[in-house]
Amino acid sequence: MSCIFVCGIGLVAEWMLPKHQTPVRFRYPAHVFDRLSVPKNATVGSTNNMKILSIETSCDETAVSIVEATGGLEKPAFTVLSNLVLSQIKTHEQYGGVFPNIAKREHSKNLGRLIETALQEAGLFVEQKNSLTESQKEKITADLSREPELCTALIELFESSGKPAIDLIAVTFGPGLEPALWVGINAGKVLSEVWGIPVMPINHMEGHISSVLLDTKKPVEFPALALLISGGHTELVLVPDWLSYKIIGQTRDDAVGEAFDKVARMMGLPYPGGPQISALAHEAREAQSDIQNDAEKKSEKKPVQNFNFPRPMIHSADYDFSFSGLKTSVLYKIRELKALQDAHVDGGIELPVETKKSLALAFEDAVIETLVVKTKKAIAEYKSKTLILAGGVTANKAIRKAFQNLTDEQTASGASTQLLIPTHELSTDNALMIAFAAYVRFSKNSTTGNSTADVHEIVAQGNVQLS
Ligand code: ADP
Ligand code: MG
Repeated sequence: MSCIFVCGIGLVAEWMLPKHQTPVRFRYPAHVFDRLSVPKNATVGSTNNMKILSIETSCDETAVSIVEATGGLEKPAFTVLSNLVLSQIKTHEQYGGVFPNIAKREHSKNLGRLIETALQEAGLFVEQKNSLTESQKEKITADLSREPELCTALIELFESSGKPAIDLIAVTFGPGLEPALWVGINAGKVLSEVWGIPVMPINHMEGHISSVLLDTKKPVEFPALALLISGGHTELVLVPDWLSYKIIGQTRDDAVGEAFDKVARMMGLPYPGGPQISALAHEAREAQSDIQNDAEKKSEKKPVQNFNFPRPMIHSADYDFSFSGLKTSVLYKIRELKALQDAHVDGGIELPVETKKSLALAFEDAVIETLVVKTKKAIAEYKSKTLILAGGVTANKAIRKAFQNLTDEQTASGASTQLLIPTHELSTDNALMIAFAAYVRFSKNSTTGNSTADVHEIVAQGNVQLS
């Protein structure tokens, strides 16, 4: 396949899709969901407590959560009643990237069952036989005409459960893959119409920023900066206060995660390549430090080759990033090394794993330095008291460590900036963060009576930006 598609990018030709599959009705045993181990918060009970059901389908994770929220804007606190994430990675792996229409099909197949399981887990499933009227069924079928499996599952849910004690439904409306986003939005609309529960559309990136709210020991102090690094995004966002955002920098080409994935592909590593590259780089880093610590003992470890890749735009006057040139430099180096290795073999040859490790390390170092230098400059300019790091790429331990070092340095020099990084499970796409964002939005806007949307006005916005 010549090109890959990641979240937020492009459409895919129909001919790439597998042959039509008959919708299957099934009931998952609960254990098939990758459950997240999120600590439960015990501080529920204030008057403003509300239960939020959230839905996230922006890319290749179908996620549903139910939380009980309390404390308002001053002291938001959450009890996680259910948190389900079903990853489609295995489905997309074979294509080397996320295909929007396949993502949509998978969301449609799984979302209804996830919602039902979440309600059961949260103890909010009201077992009760209901008969929908023909006109209700017709309406649901029309609303979900493009999501037949979801339609079947939701009709079954409505016929077997009464209205649950949910106060608010939150759905991701963008950015992301529009066909995928519509599945979550349409589910939210139908749940809202049948059960009479208001819906709040949430920006996925606001969700990522809000994901740090689970840790109530470290309240967010403003102004904050958020560095959002994922497969589809690389953004440096100034957050002067809750719900107030200014994107001060972003990538001009590839997102960080996308660059990791593409470099991995160049080395023949499977999708998603970020974790593979980071594992190789980690081994190279360990070998490097073993060799340094063990110089006289002549360590067994193979020496790490010194590759040096450019740090594009690192000294530009703005806060923008560019990773495409870096990726191309890695490609040229790989070609050069392959040519040296065997001038007579045309492509296809594998580089030795030690070389791959050294390349991965040099690539990762270039990424880290670029991110850190730009962020450090922004912290100083905006005097930010908090740095939030979120998005799937924060799973990278070397990146986490580099930012920990940066904020430790700041503290040592008297200009303290606290670093907030959500747990790994909350860094990648999930629905909890969407519920957290919805609660903040609800708490801030509730006085204006303007906090939920007319369900019919919610539309998927693939490229929406934080504003
Ligand atoms: P998106 O939803 O925008 O696709 P996610 O937040 O789900 O992105 O993050 C997935 C991205 O994170 C992928 O590009 C993946 O390669 C990257 N990633 C995951 N783990 C690591 C890691 N350890 N190092 C670098 N990148 C990683
Ligand atoms: Mg994401």
